[in-house]
Amino acid sequence: MAQSNSFVDNFDASIATAFGALVKATKAAGRLGDDIAYHRTLDESVDTRLEQASQRTLSMANHLWMTSRADSSLPITAADDIAINTEGQWTSGPQFSAVIDAVDTLLERIDVGLDELAKNSAHQLRNSVGAQSAAVVTSVAGRDVRVVHAQNMPRPQLQFRDAIDNSPNTPFVWRIRTKPHARVPLDYGLPSAAVAGSTLGQHLQTLGISRPGTPGGSGAGTPRRNKPSPELSAAQLSEALAGTVAALPHPYEYEIKHYEAPPRLFAEAEAQAPRDWDTTPFTFVDTPAALAAMLTHLVGTTEIAIDLEHHNFRSFQGFTCLIQLSSRTQDFVIDALALRDSLHQLNAVTADPQIIKVFHGAESDIVWLQRDFGVYVVGLFDTYHASHVLNMPHHSLAHLLHVFCAYDTDKRYQLADWRIRPVPAEMMRYARADTHFLLHIFDRMRNDLVQRGARLVGEDVATPGTPHFGQLAGGIDRVQSAAQPMQVVLQRSAQTALTVYVKDSYDADTGMGPGGWAQLLRKWRQPLTPAQFSVLRALHAWRDACARDEDESTRYVLPNHMLFALATKSPADVPALLAACHPTPPPVRMHAADLVALIARARSAAESRIPEALAHEEAPRPVAPVHTRFADPVDEPVEPVDVLTPDVLASAQAIASPTSALFGPTPPTASDSDAKRRALQVRATLVLQPAKPTTVLAPTEPEFTLVTAKRKRADPIRPAEPVVISETYAEYHAPKQHKPAPPLDAMQLPKIALGDIDDSSDDADEPKVKKSISKKSKKKKTSTKQGVSSADVTPFEYAEDPDLEVIGESAAPVSDKKKKNKKPNRPAKSFDPYSQISTTKELSKKPNRSRVSQKSSNRSMTFKK
Ligand code: AMP
Ligand code: MN
Ligand code: ZN
Repeated sequence: MAQSNSFVDNFDASIATAFGALVKATKAAGRLGDDIAYHRTLDESVDTRLEQASQRTLSMANHLWMTSRADSSLPITAADDIAINTEGQWTSGPQFSAVIDAVDTLLERIDVGLDELAKNSAHQLRNSVGAQSAAVVTSVAGRDVRVVHAQNMPRPQLQFRDAIDNSPNTPFVWRIRTKPHARVPLDYGLPSAAVAGSTLGQHLQTLGISRPGTPGGSGAGTPRRNKPSPELSAAQLSEALAGTVAALPHPYEYEIKHYEAPPRLFAEAEAQAPRDWDTTPFTFVDTPAALAAMLTHLVGTTEIAIDLEHHNFRSFQGFTCLIQLSSRTQDFVIDALALRDSLHQLNAVTADPQIIKVFHGAESDIVWLQRDFGVYVVGLFDTYHASHVLNMPHHSLAHLLHVFCAYDTDKRYQLADWRIRPVPAEMMRYARADTHFLLHIFDRMRNDLVQRGARLVGEDVATPGTPHFGQLAGGIDRVQSAAQPMQVVLQRSAQTALTVYVKDSYDADTGMGPGGWAQLLRKWRQPLTPAQFSVLRALHAWRDACARDEDESTRYVLPNHMLFALATKSPADVPALLAACHPTPPPVRMHAADLVALIARARSAAESRIPEALAHEEAPRPVAPVHTRFADPVDEPVEPVDVLTPDVLASAQAIASPTSALFGPTPPTASDSDAKRRALQVRATLVLQPAKPTTVLAPTEPEFTLVTAKRKRADPIRPAEPVVISETYAEYHAPKQHKPAPPLDAMQLPKIALGDIDDSSDDADEPKVKKSISKKSKKKKTSTKQGVSSADVTPFEYAEDPDLEVIGESAAPVSDKKKKNKKPNRPAKSFDPYSQISTTKELSKKPNRSRVSQKSSNRSMTFKK
């Protein structure tokens, strides 16, 4: 490291020296002439010195050659390895193409390194949030997407105090050691050290989660103060639990299942209009003091609207960037990157059953809150579920805002890069709007639910042709009681609040799991030959290992469409590899030669087995259900096709993890988290983490990451039964992915019979995120036929121009917007998510006025009654 630092520090001088030496060597070699053999025989000292020189050259070449490859290539021992001279005719030796690949790889790495170096010298501040350039908005033709991104984005995760543990072999553990508003202690339902043979119990006790001699925690319903336990890092806990459990239970499972909804939820009340946008106090919360002040305000409220903004392109598991909260009188946006370690304090309000938490489509928010902050929600009202029970035609927040508030939001900012700091005014406005109006929407929906419940008691709402058909849905057939509609919304919301975060596992053999190759194949729908299938699996395993190791998303490392392009084309050398995936993701550039070797090995492993494997040629059956990160996995068994040898898979992982080509070995175990963190930091400071532009969703993103998921039929809500809380942790042994905890058995709400509530009519429902994804994917399919999408990239800078806070188009109805966007068919430039979107020159250019209306921001933001 010291050496490479001094090289970097004296970069220009070092390069000049190296270049001088190269010129000298080249000239000397040129003077040697053809008659070397003659001179060698003539003078023994010439012979000896030539021999020494060629040995040195060979050893240097071998050194380069071996470091450019992670797999164990044989060293070059003789000229014949490279080129064979038979009677004056030169032909390639066995290692010839491999050497060419190695040289290509080295040049690629130099290229990546130089890019990085140039960038870093232009931006002195490294690794600190705030070092990136001004934000840039890019409109992409043919897509209703506004990509907001910035150059040279530092990686915020390097500042996180908690080490990132992407290992598939360690479970996620709670980020809380105390439990505000607890009705049962944190260790409720967990085995104690007294349970014979319970390693987990002992672990938990040592870690301060469990107390000795209390098997199963305290008695049901007995409130008990839990004492604060020593702070332990999630990484330490995770390591302690490795191999014992797939996931710990939901710490607030008891409280959520025994939630007693405040009676005011079941009574009509005048809907409060949202406060005027411009006079509502707005606070950007990015200091502990501001957080404390905000909490003081919020503990006195009865309803809070909450929403999150998230980033997952340059991170394996993703992280929350902003948390928006609105009370009746104030709006807050929390910098979740800056305050990450303090935000567990939010439990003071989110776990308080007396304060209603209003979210829209909370499923991912619930998961992100517990994963990043240890924040849990007791008392959730999800307007998404309400929109279903009210049988509204659409279920997106945009629709609710339109219907209830006459406010048209620009949902395209969903895809902005939420890591950007300071948050551009335009994005802040969007984020704030996501919660500003939500309590008014809640009021209106509550009143609708209560009114319809009262009006329709005893009526049939499920039979077509009857007078009340369709006035309520959500599995309600005949309305049982006035409270029923609200109750169903709360039940469904509680089910959402019980969702447990589980890290994505990886199974190279079966391809199971949310990030596995099995479901990818289902989506791809095209038959692959056994050899192609074998290559696909090897590359998939490499991608997973690389993404975990570098803390990148798999779609950054190698997007699905490139994965399939490589599998189907199986390029035999580096240029073919690079041509098959354009724009080339930096990790692919870095490992190009290794990937070529991996592909070759996977091919031959499969080819040697074709006879048996042929039977499975149609293995990738088209299957409808598809998993997204936001849904339950639909893991149908896929017959493993054994065309890939274990050693190929092992080598796939080997390329990715143990040795970083430029910066040496990664720390050996996840437990060595400090070392890992430091290594990541070192790498980022140097060049391995190419902090290239940061589109959240590349327009070239393949169709199949965006395919609609058919939601698994929800568990019907069952009639009241004796309460069963997870007495043992045994049920958590089975691997689960984002599974809600077992269905609610008894919520202590006003009594209604739930016996005939059936979710079947909702089978086609999906959270809005997925719907919008699928629409975009369809649109894209038609607009980008050639694989690499043609995109109209119009960068401009708005951060410094207060007039440009709002894109005027956002005031127009969505349909008009789409038409407008499509009209000017500009010359297409290809969009490269890995390259610099705009140069400094372009950044300083005047904004493109034709795309940015300067309509007063007030107009679109004013609430219309
Ligand atoms: P929202 O609650 O709609 O503001 O979305 C919250 C977060 O979910 C955003 O910050 C995105 O990270 C993610 N998200 C929402 N919609 C999409 C989408 N269509 N595609 C990808 N990510 C999305
Ligand atoms: Mn949301
Ligand atoms: Zn949002």
